[in-house]
Amino acid sequence: MHLARFNPVRFAHLPTPLEPLPRLTEALSGSPGGGPMLWIKRDDCTGLAGGGNKTRKLEYLLGDALANDADTLVTQGAVQSNHVRQTAAAAAKFGLACEIILEHRTGSQAQDYNRSGNVLLDELLGAKVRHVPAGTDMNQQLAEVAAEVAERGGRPYVIPGGGSNIIGALGYVECAMEIVMQANELGLEVDRIVTATGSAGTHAGLVAGLAVMGADIPVLGIGVRAPKETQEANVFKLAQETADLLGHPDRVTRDMVVADCNYVGAGYGLIDQAVIDALTLAARTDGILLDPVYSGKAMKGLIDLAGQGAFDGENVVFLHTGGAQGLFGYQTELEGRMG
Ligand SMILES: *Cc1c(COP(=O)(O)O)cnc(C)c1O
Repeated sequence: MHLARFNPVRFAHLPTPLEPLPRLTEALSGSPGGGPMLWIKRDDCTGLAGGGNKTRKLEYLLGDALANDADTLVTQGAVQSNHVRQTAAAAAKFGLACEIILEHRTGSQAQDYNRSGNVLLDELLGAKVRHVPAGTDMNQQLAEVAAEVAERGGRPYVIPGGGSNIIGALGYVECAMEIVMQANELGLEVDRIVTATGSAGTHAGLVAGLAVMGADIPVLGIGVRAPKETQEANVFKLAQETADLLGHPDRVTRDMVVADCNYVGAGYGLIDQAVIDALTLAARTDGILLDPVYSGKAMKGLIDLAGQGAFDGENVVFLHTGGAQGLFGYQTELEGRMG
């Protein structure tokens, strides 16, 4: 697949571990069919200022930014965006300026949500942060801020929300290769990969990578925001475009893209007791820190589906996409509800 020709810059701690989750497996073994054997791909350990899934994307995006002689990264996200935090860290690491636009998507007025967690870290990492209300046209905001940077003589490089374009998705093409190689070394037959799916780059990159390799491993995305039809359409489009970039436009077919969006709850970034139960179960079985917005919701889905027998007898790899820094933005919501 010649990923090197896209000239990523290397700063992620790779490969991330692929580990068994014996105690969580035991905890979910109650379905009549015995439940799945659970494994975890530790992309929470990618190494960049707390890590997470955006770090792999940023290796390719920074490669492109530096090739274009940029001096300023411009990106956007929700208030507690992990993508923004990792972008701010990458900018610092390469001596670039970083312009951030945060959308107040959840409408939360809570002090911890608006000041702690990732927001505190964005500031610590030296990003310049602007705030806009929910529903703002974020692509237009990106264009406006980039124009401002250019007007004052800077060289902006715009990274879309979540780093999800064909360049960013290459990071998850690489992750797909890594999982297949690690599974071979472990003698592990992977029956399914489960991941949170949001801005689609992670899910699309995995699907494209597996398809281009010809590895027959289904990927289940658990949605955190959009309805199923929209999410699957977004992932399919990006996966096809990514496979096209790799020279194999026809390898990704529509049936390879599956999202279950039944676990969003009240909305993006809004949590319920089932999310908190998923966070506590992962923490108290195998010492895994998930996040409230993405990986916790994906685990809420995985737990419920496993209880319905959806994964009986399968080796399931849960992709840990990171985000535990966001837990501190939800302190008051979590306190007293963790059992
Ligand atoms: C961004 C993010 C996701 C979703 O990944 P996408 O590529 O945007 O779909 C999942 N988990 C965490 C912790 C994230 O920050």
